[in-house]
Amino acid sequence: MYGSRKVADCRQFPSDINCSLTISGTEEEVLKIAVRHAVEEYGHKNSPELVKQIRALLKDEN
Ligand SMILES: [Zn+2]
Repeated sequence: MYGSRKVADCRQFPSDINCSLTISGTEEEVLKIAVRHAVEEYGHKNSPELVKQIRALLKDEN
């Protein structure tokens, strides 16, 4: 069973790399990819705080 899909829109993330990527999927999938993306592309440090910040920015998919 899938829950509703979530969307992480990079344009909402504070960054200086002008990323316009949108990641969508289940919350778990989006979080996993978005955290990896934030670490690899944005240079963020992987931490529970980062995961929390990203989770807070997820939106329900329309
Ligand atoms: Zn991005």
